[in-house]
Amino acid sequence: MTVSTVSVDSLAIEPSLKYLITELEELYGQMDRLYAQKSAHYGFECTGCRENCCLTRFYHHTFLEYIYLRKGFAGLPASKQAAARQRAEAYLDVLAKSESGQNGPPFRRMCPLNESGWCLLYAWRPMICRLHGIPHEFAPPGRSNRVYGEGCAEFIAACGHLPYSPFDRTPFYVRMSELEGRLRKSLAVSGKSKKTNAHMLVQDEVPVDAVY
Ligand code: SF4
Repeated sequence: MTVSTVSVDSLAIEPSLKYLITELEELYGQMDRLYAQKSAHYGFECTGCRENCCLTRFYHHTFLEYIYLRKGFAGLPASKQAAARQRAEAYLDVLAKSESGQNGPPFRRMCPLNESGWCLLYAWRPMICRLHGIPHEFAPPGRSNRVYGEGCAEFIAACGHLPYSPFDRTPFYVRMSELEGRLRKSLAVSGKSKKTNAHMLVQDEVPVDAVY
């Protein structure tokens, strides 16, 4: 078995992925609805803040979200694409220095998809961008204890005194993993994916198993 690659943009328009993409959109819709319900419960509204989660180095781990983000990216005007890719290159330079320990303070840099405070791909943004901010829990696979998160600094300042209202991410993670598994099986996508949004803008290949 040899590993080959296919273009992520060709997968983004691959007809056999149509139903998987629809299911991903349904899953995103479920996340957004539960998030909105919980935010309303706390009376918490994200209006932008100093902590800004778009400055956080989030890694995304599914090829399905990579393909989906690129599907949205393909719909941006060429000038916006070029500018975002330029920001992504600069982002990755700073990230590489930070991760090699040359840059001192913890990595904080605006996501290349954020333009003047607005997400260029809001409807296409990955799962973690949708779930970040409010207190949550999840059950990691193979472990008996649950993990709890207290929410972002803005949430803690505004609503941290309020009792926790259960927001279990586990069903979302499980469903995402199931959709990713189906993508991998149907198109022989292989290997691990660990990408920031910047990686997703500048990298163009998805590894696939090729049998010779
Ligand atoms: S994809 Fe959009 S919401 Fe997510 S970090 Fe980037 S700008 Fe922010």
